[in-house]
Amino acid sequence: MGFKRVLIANRGEIALRIMRALRDMGIEAAIIHGREDRLSLPVRMSDVAYANYKDNPLDSYLDIESVVAAAKELECDAVHPGYGFLAENAKFVKRLEEEGITFIGPSADVITLLGDKIEARAAMEAAGLPTAKGSSEPISSADVARQLADEIGYPVIIKAAAGGGGIGMQIVEEASEFESALKLCQSRAKSAFGDDRVFVEKYIMGAQHVEFQVLADGKNAIHFGERFCSIQRRHQKLVEEGPWLTDEKRAEIGALVCAGAESVGYKGLATFEFLRDANGDFYFLEVNPRVQVEHTVTELITGHNLVELGIRVAQGEDLPLAQEDIKWRGHAIQCRLNAEDTVNFVPSPGRLWDCHFPSGFGIRCDTHAHPGYEMPGCFDSLLAKLLTWGEDRESAVRRMRSALDETIIEGVEHLIPLHRRIMDEEDFINGDITIKYIDEHPELLF
Ligand code: ADP
Repeated sequence: MGFKRVLIANRGEIALRIMRALRDMGIEAAIIHGREDRLSLPVRMSDVAYANYKDNPLDSYLDIESVVAAAKELECDAVHPGYGFLAENAKFVKRLEEEGITFIGPSADVITLLGDKIEARAAMEAAGLPTAKGSSEPISSADVARQLADEIGYPVIIKAAAGGGGIGMQIVEEASEFESALKLCQSRAKSAFGDDRVFVEKYIMGAQHVEFQVLADGKNAIHFGERFCSIQRRHQKLVEEGPWLTDEKRAEIGALVCAGAESVGYKGLATFEFLRDANGDFYFLEVNPRVQVEHTVTELITGHNLVELGIRVAQGEDLPLAQEDIKWRGHAIQCRLNAEDTVNFVPSPGRLWDCHFPSGFGIRCDTHAHPGYEMPGCFDSLLAKLLTWGEDRESAVRRMRSALDETIIEGVEHLIPLHRRIMDEEDFINGDITIKYIDEHPELLF
């Protein structure tokens, strides 16, 4: 049965994105919000809003019982978590299940499995996906870690089992570094995720980040191809684009990710992340069990409304598309217009005295920003996602240059100057990009 009213448990651009999908489907949009967001566009444009003011602004979106209470009081059939906040919280999903409210995303069990990088690696290895050499169990002793590193070879990377956002990761080049790197990763993991289990994996040199978009209905899965997301700062993406692979490689890895999703009974949108080394070999990193910031790139090149499709499978529909229905056309690029300085990427909250975002053929801008918007310092610094589409990569890049030139953001520091320089940089233009791109191009940061 179709949803009548859905609660958006998120803020910013993704709250607007979800609201638009709901409106496309004739579903009412409810929203829960904190004090900082009471005048925000998604709150003003929602059908009904639930004020949830807390001393700690993050709790407005993270407090499970408040969100459940909002969904009940506003008589919502379902909750859309967006990304971040409660999107990957199995406890939250269970609470909604208890209340008979649908969570738009996978089941609590699948979230628990995929939220543990060690378990997820094992599950995907069993489904036939290639993974980097590493520990299949948590590691707490430097001696055991050294032994493993001797077997798989340096450098290695220590990662949190419950990890996310690149937090805590430590690259280890030689045995003597293990003791302190292990402690550091464990303590960061403990404070960020309340779980200090870490594991060791071969560090993939010269790697590119390539990820696959998947949609599944609990039985079958299809894929929408790949996105290339190697331009990162602190393991966080800045520029995403696609397509990137040959048709043959896309079909090969695409079949594997579908098998992986089906093997765990996945339902909803998912992103399978990989590193690809200089030989072109793929290594599974993790599954993000939710809509992703950069889903927009895939929407531009496939023409499918991914957020709507995710809601439809949550309503209990079977996959409305077959793999053969998915076609790719042209090339799309997304620049994340964060309110940050372009040297150290320090967030720059404040009031937008003025802003103007471009539009026109082949341009899409997803943003909750408007002149007068007070960008809070307590949330993510993503202000807008600027995308361009072109018949090929060169025309998408050319269009991005003029789209960036047309964009006006005044009142906060932002990444437009950095993106503009990237669009002119030779290695970027040649597609000669690895996850070290920003480190290797310090001249872009000033
Ligand atoms: P998180 O969930 O914290 O974002 P991921 O496992 O998805 O962590 O990795 C995020 C980024 O960290 C990757 O895109 C890559 O830049 C780097 N990284 C992670 N694992 C490795 C590895 N084995 N070798 C090289 N880089 C890695």
